[in-house]
Amino acid sequence: MLKVVKFGGSSLADAEHFAKVGDIIRAEEDRRYVIPSAPGRRFEGDTKVTDMLYHCWHLAKQGMDFTDTLKNIRARYDQIANGLGLQVDLDTEFAAIDRNLRELKGEDYAASRGEYLNGILMSAYLGFDFVDAADVIAFNELGEFDDRRTARLIADRLADVRHAVIPGFYGSLPDGTIHTFSRGGSDITGSLVAKAVHADLYENWTDVSGFLMADPHIIRDPVTIPTITYREMRELSYMGATVLHEDAVFPLRKEGIPINVRNTNCPDDPGTMVVESTCNKPRYTITGIGGKKGFASITIEKAMMNAEVGFGRRVLEVFEDTGMTFEHTPSGIDTFSVFVNQHEFEPHEQQIIAGLHRSVHPDMIELESDLALVAVVGRGMRRTRGTAGRIFSALAHAHVNVKMIDQGSSELNIIIGVENRDFETAIRAIYDIFVVAQL
Ligand code: ASP
Repeated sequence: MLKVVKFGGSSLADAEHFAKVGDIIRAEEDRRYVIPSAPGRRFEGDTKVTDMLYHCWHLAKQGMDFTDTLKNIRARYDQIANGLGLQVDLDTEFAAIDRNLRELKGEDYAASRGEYLNGILMSAYLGFDFVDAADVIAFNELGEFDDRRTARLIADRLADVRHAVIPGFYGSLPDGTIHTFSRGGSDITGSLVAKAVHADLYENWTDVSGFLMADPHIIRDPVTIPTITYREMRELSYMGATVLHEDAVFPLRKEGIPINVRNTNCPDDPGTMVVESTCNKPRYTITGIGGKKGFASITIEKAMMNAEVGFGRRVLEVFEDTGMTFEHTPSGIDTFSVFVNQHEFEPHEQQIIAGLHRSVHPDMIELESDLALVAVVGRGMRRTRGTAGRIFSALAHAHVNVKMIDQGSSELNIIIGVENRDFETAIRAIYDIFVVAQL
């Protein structure tokens, strides 16, 4: 068994957390390749080291003094090194960072040092080899990720290395310039390493015990999802439930490598297994409930629109011309609605209305704002009759007015449009009927 293990910033925020992580890694010899993030927040209101490094960069770029911020960053690493009794030459490392910041070596270079230094400390703490991500994660001249070269570099570099620490989040361009993924990108590094070494499992350790069935800000102590498919996860992530970076999923999906999301603070919790497919029967009919507020709908009414060839295309073209994306397009015989992000829509409102009048000559256009979408997701829904009925009767009992219903043809999700103010009530009502009532 070969496992690649990635630890998020909150799992590596201080010496105490490092020690917990050390215990987790040492508990299984299979945990061979370790991907650390930069130290995250230790408490509410604290600043992540990555954000401090971005701040240093901005000061350096404006020719301002960044010494104090860099000292604060140094203090974070000193606490870890001293707390664990590590003998690491941080003076030399920080002198190089200071010099490179002054020489304006780049924003990505600055940001990447959080992971780099955590990697150095982690390898010293575990006695594992340190493999600089700049040597194995490759981008092309345009800064686009180079999949093939990366897979080869990792496989070659790790071929004879039993245990290694590879910092997350960054890599390099062909000329050696440091380049980062988008924020939260250590998840991607972990998945690339897992793919390249053909790992049996990619463990992603964070500060929650996996994916929850609903947002804990709305449902108190929601049930953890034991197994979720990549497709279900995509539906829920799109609707706001983010635990993993989206781009971390694709490399693994292709290889059929499962991800196990685990909690560093509760290492005995089994967490959530994210898999390509499974015949594991979910305990509940639904896998999870997601949702987002802040949508607007534009409903176009026109008699006989169903007989008009190209009607839908012309409507969507008006949105496309403004560079907007749309979320859903529920339609009736003589109505066609477009759900969009309200915030993005507002500046284009009048342009879109005028465009629709010119393009499709509607009988009426109706706008509605302050809408929310609730997504009920679950592979189990396909097999179960009456799921939609249960959802809508629960919503009716909770006095939630349903504005729109959209069931994807995959039968993996049902999306319900409600007013923003009914959002939480709707989620609670659905959670109650499918989960609380079954407990
Ligand atoms: N440290 C980086 C960030 O804060 C990357 C990561 O944590 O995955 O976004």
